[in-house]
Amino acid sequence: MRKEMLVFGQPLIDQSEIDEVVDSMHKAWLGTGPKVHQFEKDFAAYKGVSHSAAVNSCTAALHLACLALDLKPGDEVITSSMTFCATVNAIIHSGATPVLADINPQTLNIDPASIRQKISPQTRAILVIHFAGYPCDMQTISALAKEHDLALIEDCAHAIETEYDGRKAGTFGDFGCFSFYATKNITTGEGGMVTSPHEELINRIKIMALHGMSKDAWKRFSDDGYKHYYVVDRGFKYNMMDIQAAIGLHQLKRIETCWEKRRMIWQRYMNEFKDLPIDLPAEISSQHRHAYHLFTIRIDSERCGLSRDEFLEAMTRLNIGVGVHYLAIPEHPYYQETYQWNPQDYPHAALYGHQTVSLPLSPRLSDEDVEDVVAAVKQVLG
Ligand SMILES: *Cc1c(COP(=O)(O)O)cnc(C)c1O
Repeated sequence: MRKEMLVFGQPLIDQSEIDEVVDSMHKAWLGTGPKVHQFEKDFAAYKGVSHSAAVNSCTAALHLACLALDLKPGDEVITSSMTFCATVNAIIHSGATPVLADINPQTLNIDPASIRQKISPQTRAILVIHFAGYPCDMQTISALAKEHDLALIEDCAHAIETEYDGRKAGTFGDFGCFSFYATKNITTGEGGMVTSPHEELINRIKIMALHGMSKDAWKRFSDDGYKHYYVVDRGFKYNMMDIQAAIGLHQLKRIETCWEKRRMIWQRYMNEFKDLPIDLPAEISSQHRHAYHLFTIRIDSERCGLSRDEFLEAMTRLNIGVGVHYLAIPEHPYYQETYQWNPQDYPHAALYGHQTVSLPLSPRLSDEDVEDVVAAVKQVLG
C-alpha cells in the first residue's frame, strides 16, 4: 500500500508556468493585462475560432453565454441530467428555466432522442456537455437545433482536446465554454473561456465580464493615457487575471504531450481492468477524438459484491484519491424542491450517478502511481 495519499486530479505544473507567474510579479501586473490577451489569442488559435473571451471560471463562461442569448422568464433551455451543477445554475441565473434530458448510458452524453421529447414551444436553446471528454452526437444535435431554431451552447469543461468528426468541440454552436479549474485538462487555477463565431456577442460578453463597462474600459488596463469608462449594462466581475493567464499560456503549449500521457494511462487501465466485473468507459471511433478527462468505472453492487460507496471507501483507505462525477442533477434537494424533478424520470443518469467512480488520470501521475491505482482496484475487486 502507498504511504502517501494520491491526490485526485492534481495538475502538472512546470518551471515555465512558475517563471511566467514570477514575471507577472516582477512586472507587478497582476490583474487583466497583456498575458490575458495573449492567452485569449493562443486559445482561439488552438481552437481555430476567431473570437474568445477569457473569464475567471467556466461557470462564469456559461452564465455569460446564457445571458447573451437574451432569454426571458419562461424560456426553456434543455441540458443533460448528468453534469456538474454549474451547468444548470447558469441557465437558472440567466432567468430561464432548465429542462433536463436523460443520457445515453454508453457515451454518458445527452441523448438526442430525449432532447427531442423535451422540446416545447418555450425551448430556446440546447446546452450540451461532452461528458468526460467524449464528444456528443453533434450531427444529430446540430440538426435538431437548426430544425427548431434553437441556440446551441457547448459546455466543454471536460472537452478541451475533444473533436467530433475532425471538428473541435466548442465550435459547433453559438458558444463553447471551457474550464481551467485545477483538475481540468489544462489549468489556470481557476479560469474559463468563451469562444464564439459571433463577434458582437463576444464583445457583449467582454462587457458583461467587467461590470458592464463599455469596451474601451479594457484600455484602462493599458498605458496609453487616462480613459473614462461608461457603464452600459449591469455586468459582473468575471475577468481573468494575468497571474492566471501566465499559468494557462504554458499549460496550453504542452497540451498535446499531456493529452498523450492521459491516453497512455487510459489504455493501461482499459487493459488491466478488462476482466474485472465492472463496466469500463465506451470505446471511441477513430473519426472522433476523446479528451480523456475522466476515467470512470461503474460499480454494480450485485456484480462486484460491494457497493459504489464501499468501493470509494476502500480505495481511500488504500490512499488512492477517487472522485464521483456526478450524482445526477435531479438527486439534489434544491432542484427537487424548485422544479419537482425526480431521479426516476432520468433512469440512465440516476443509475450511472449511483455506480460511477473516477480513477486518478493526470499527466502528473508517475508509472508507480499508475501501478498503485491498478493494484488497489484489483485488490478491492479481487
Ligand atoms: C468543472 C465544470 C464546470 C465548472 O467549471 P469552473 O471553471 O470550475 O467554473 C462546468 N461544467 C462542467 C461539466 C464541469 O466539469
